[in-house]
Amino acid sequence: MENQGTSAAGTDSGTPAATAARDKPVCLIVLGMAGSGKTTFVQRLTAHLHSLQAPPYVINLDPAVHEVPFPANIDIRDTVNYKEVMKQYGLGPNGGIVTSLNLFATRFDQVMHFIEKKQQNHRYVLIDTPGQIEVFTWSASGTIITETLASSFPCVVIYVMDTSRSVSPVTFMSNMLYACSILYKTKLPFIVVMNKTDIIDHSFAVEWMQDFEVFQDALNQETSYVSNLTRSMSLVLDEFYTNLRVVGVSAVTGKGLDELFVQVEDAADEYERDYRPEYERLRKQLSEAQGKKQQEQLERLRKDLGAVDITSTPSTEESNIAGSSDLIMSRGNPDDEEEDEDSDTDDIDHTATEESKEGDAFGNFIQERKEVVQVRNRRCEMPEGP
Ligand code: GDP
Ligand code: MG
Repeated sequence: MENQGTSAAGTDSGTPAATAARDKPVCLIVLGMAGSGKTTFVQRLTAHLHSLQAPPYVINLDPAVHEVPFPANIDIRDTVNYKEVMKQYGLGPNGGIVTSLNLFATRFDQVMHFIEKKQQNHRYVLIDTPGQIEVFTWSASGTIITETLASSFPCVVIYVMDTSRSVSPVTFMSNMLYACSILYKTKLPFIVVMNKTDIIDHSFAVEWMQDFEVFQDALNQETSYVSNLTRSMSLVLDEFYTNLRVVGVSAVTGKGLDELFVQVEDAADEYERDYRPEYERLRKQLSEAQGKKQQEQLERLRKDLGAVDITSTPSTEESNIAGSSDLIMSRGNPDDEEEDEDSDTDDIDHTATEESKEGDAFGNFIQERKEVVQVRNRRCEMPEGP
């Protein structure tokens, strides 16, 4: 496993900002299976950073969460009404989350604008993602959001896992395989956070990763065919383990956070060293050639989703359609409220909209869904005979 970095948050002069001379905030993209503790972790991290006088900029990307337990500067729920999306597109809960995130991704340039404006005030940007990890990691919108962030800011993926639910070697292995796939998908520095160490210490898992024999012994207790699969997979993962940063934390008690920030700083350095050149190239592509593929994808999402009322706050029809500008709202700090006078990002947004008139599969699908739902709703509204 990785060596620890030299600069720890909150160790020398009491603030994370006092350490490395980095001019941009580090974005921590928090991913993990449903229930692993992402939201609680972001809440704990936010409180921790506040106590160090280094408040983070916090973004909630989970449209379906009932309550956001931390002060979010940007909350997807202010922009997209998930229940309304389900209703209007006739979707179930998962489809609703995916579509809400797609809608939000089409406006992510505005989020970038907000972060850029505030970058001097924050050392960290924390990003909480939807409960179901695949919604973010294997969707066009998740990729767009991640790439857009990583082309402007140092980004680190924090993969949260539930240690207490990984005590079976087979479950542990599945979780690690998933983590490995996320690492290769996101192409960003990566930290595995073994959460819930207040329930069980994560040392058993670290040992499994460091000592193949110990893991095999644990596996020998299992008799299912899955254990054979797991045995061969664990050989594959050996390479993954050697370069992996692992930290045990408890989002509930706050244990392990200092160690986490050591790893975060180290991962951020890795971004600067190994990833920035790649993302700078991507950024250049984005601005020079209108980001061809990504712009096309965005454009498609925008067209497919364009004419539907999605906002949370009921207001006039015009301001509610997704096509209108400045839907993303920031909140929290009063100084976040300032108006967006120069809408240069908006311009980028709207200039590239002329081409791609073809209706693709997703567009047709969404259109059909809308029609079906409209017909269904009309039927429901018809007065019934006695
Ligand atoms: P998410 O779906 O990944 O955002 O998970 P949540 O943050 O909503 O947490 C899921 C459940 O795990 C909640 O009941 C939390 O209280 C619990 N939880 C989260 N972190 C910890 C932890 O460090 N220790 C313990 N004991 N429970 C935790
Ligand atoms: Mg959550």
